[in-house]
Amino acid sequence: MAIFERVNYQDVTGVRVGRFNQGINTTFVVYQLFDTLIDTGPANQWQFVKQFAQQQQAKQVLLTHFHEDHSGNSLGLQQAGIKVFAPPLTQQLITKPYKMPLIQKLIWGTPQGAQVDLMPEKVSIGEQYAVTKIPVPGHCEEMYAYLLEDKGWLFSGDLYIAGKVKYLHRHEDFAEQITSLKRVLSYDFEVMFCPHRGIVKQGKQALANKLDYLENLIAQAQQLNNQGVDIKQITTQLLGKEDGLYYFSAGEFAKRHLIAACLAMQN
Ligand SMILES: [Zn+2]
Repeated sequence: MAIFERVNYQDVTGVRVGRFNQGINTTFVVYQLFDTLIDTGPANQWQFVKQFAQQQQAKQVLLTHFHEDHSGNSLGLQQAGIKVFAPPLTQQLITKPYKMPLIQKLIWGTPQGAQVDLMPEKVSIGEQYAVTKIPVPGHCEEMYAYLLEDKGWLFSGDLYIAGKVKYLHRHEDFAEQITSLKRVLSYDFEVMFCPHRGIVKQGKQALANKLDYLENLIAQAQQLNNQGVDIKQITTQLLGKEDGLYYFSAGEFAKRHLIAACLAMQN
């Protein structure tokens, strides 16, 4: 267990924590701006998150979605006197510990349930920054990105993670993800704070590139399908054979899920 990195961009600081330093899917950046943390980091990194929250004198946490790496320290932070705010479904989902695949327990630890506060209509960070809450479902049923319009900064939850994604989790709604990418891109911003990728200075461009990549993938998959190529071959041809993540996740993450979702997209 360790702190792998400290990151900074103007007034934003962040700490990258994780049990295993195996890249962006096993580590997590908790960001802080003035009195606010964005997400809590995973439960098995509590000692570092606690220290960071106390050093930064955080008073509130805004949760983007319920996943354990984002919400796993909600109870601990509340017990340390910090208010934790969540959108309605997220608030409900984290009241009790939920069933997690072994691989996720191993990477992130198992969170305790927490009764957090409902995100109010108006939210601000420090005294000066109003937060625009943008719904970006797809990665899960409810997720929000938090935009500081005055600064052009976006806290993107798990909307980005990577530009050229090769896998889809079987619980992800791909069509919703595409809609969410388009929704976010209709706003003005520049810098993106991604809890896995880190700080992306040309964040809007990165999200636009991701949308382009996925739209191309959809077009290519549909073209091959129209030529009578079967889904297994389309997958291998466009994304390569299933690899480590497929086997470690017992098939929950699969390239085939992504191609199937591309084929199901209506134009
Ligand atoms: Zn997530």
